[in-house]
Amino acid sequence: MSKKILIGGIAIIVLSLALYLVSGATAQPTRINWGEAVKKAQNGEFATIETNSNNHSIILVSKSDSSVRFASVYPAGKAKLDEILDKAGVTQDKFPQIENDVSNSPDRWRGMLLFVPIITMFALLFFYMRSRRESGGGLRTGRGPSGAMGFTRNSGKLIVPQRVGVTFQDVAGADEAKQELEEIVEFLKQPERFTKLGARIPKGVLLVGPPGTGKTLLAKAVAGEANVPFISISGSEFVEIYVGVGAARVRDLFERAKKMAPCIIFIDEVDAVGRKRGSRAGGGTEEREQTLNQILVEMDGFDSQTNVIVLAATNRADVLDPAFLRPGRFDRQVMVDNPDYMGRSQILKVHARSKPLDSGVDLERIAKQTPGFSGADLANLMNEAAILSARRNKTSIGLSELEEAIDRVVAGPERKSRIISEREKVITAYHEVGHALVAKLVKNVDPVQKISIVARGRMGGYTRVGAGDDRTLWTRSQLEDFMAFALGGHAAEELMFGEVTTGPSNDIERVTSIARSMV
Ligand code: ADP
Repeated sequence: MSKKILIGGIAIIVLSLALYLVSGATAQPTRINWGEAVKKAQNGEFATIETNSNNHSIILVSKSDSSVRFASVYPAGKAKLDEILDKAGVTQDKFPQIENDVSNSPDRWRGMLLFVPIITMFALLFFYMRSRRESGGGLRTGRGPSGAMGFTRNSGKLIVPQRVGVTFQDVAGADEAKQELEEIVEFLKQPERFTKLGARIPKGVLLVGPPGTGKTLLAKAVAGEANVPFISISGSEFVEIYVGVGAARVRDLFERAKKMAPCIIFIDEVDAVGRKRGSRAGGGTEEREQTLNQILVEMDGFDSQTNVIVLAATNRADVLDPAFLRPGRFDRQVMVDNPDYMGRSQILKVHARSKPLDSGVDLERIAKQTPGFSGADLANLMNEAAILSARRNKTSIGLSELEEAIDRVVAGPERKSRIISEREKVITAYHEVGHALVAKLVKNVDPVQKISIVARGRMGGYTRVGAGDDRTLWTRSQLEDFMAFALGGHAAEELMFGEVTTGPSNDIERVTSIARSMV
């Protein structure tokens, strides 16, 4: 039930009760006996007298103030009120106007006023029940949530289809992924081209890749290219502590999507619901299984004419339930990986579109220095550089800001407030130089780009080496050299000071993880 109806209903109830009370205050006439009434009539105090011949009751309205009213009863008998008054000696000039058979109207209206709140309450109850029934919630169990309105409904913000302004041009790099998705755009635009030949429209596409690589952006771009509505929801929103709520949400989601077809449903973090069934990890298993089943049922229920395509994103395709990946469900997988050098420089260019750069700035140089950065990191980098330039009152972004932004993205902002003793600075300096020297001496580590002993985040300092090429294959000697490089700081501390500090703990973690994966 919408908030507006609820507020409107409460307003009606309050208003009618207030009216009831106010009308009671003004309309209640004072009771007087017939003798007093006659006396007042003889004095010419009344403008009108309203009669009710059934029970001979009368309301006498004062001449001076119409809100002053008296109630009385005139003697029963054959005589009419005017005759009785005439006999009682009320003279012509003082004679009130007599209105016959005016039933005691104010009282009747007051009575009706009492009905209004009751009717309104019933109406509210009716709307409430209906909204719950529509959302599919509350039907299921006594266990389910009661009282919380629209509990199972996906909140309006999520379900309102966005017309996205994003196109493939906004997604840089990721060319293979774009090619794969191009086909989906075609399906959405001209389904008949495919259905004529008996081709089945794909129902689900799984976008697999680490966080920040642009999976959401790609899904939006598909919707933008095809010019269809984009409904997005996160897998974790389906997972509730109440069994059955997640499934009801899925039903609701697909129901609405079908009404809007052609459209795209985007489920982010699908692994939150799509994990292998039966594995006990993570708790809430029963609820998750029901939700997962419901998604599968809904997808199976699409007929060949339903032009709704579900795009789902995950960084863990390996933990997904095999039923998820069967033909007819998420049978297409699109890999979206961290960008390579070319990809990085294109992404930087996309995000530099609205930002003025110094004339000499070479974004490719920045791309070279940022191996392992995701698209989101690079977007963040450009933004940080713009903020830094603004803080320095510059009108365009220079190389120094870009390079500083890299440090900020890697290690967090400078910690100027942290007080570092001279001795700590010396130790950090030796430590970093140790890394740098080893990097120079071994064969397989790229040249040192930057050494810093400015504290950032939790790090005291760092030594950054460039990445000559993007590598996916590493040889044994490369890995060994890299481990030596990582331990350079540790060795330098030992050599200079005869003992080590807690500084290299991070290095040792890295070396351990490399050694472990080598095994
Ligand atoms: P994911 O869904 O994979 O976690 P997002 O799509 O949410 O990542 O990406 C976050 C942001 O990073 C995007 O809004 C965009 O600004 C930037 N981004 C990521 N990949 C790219 C790319 N290939 N081209 C341009 N911008 C990108």
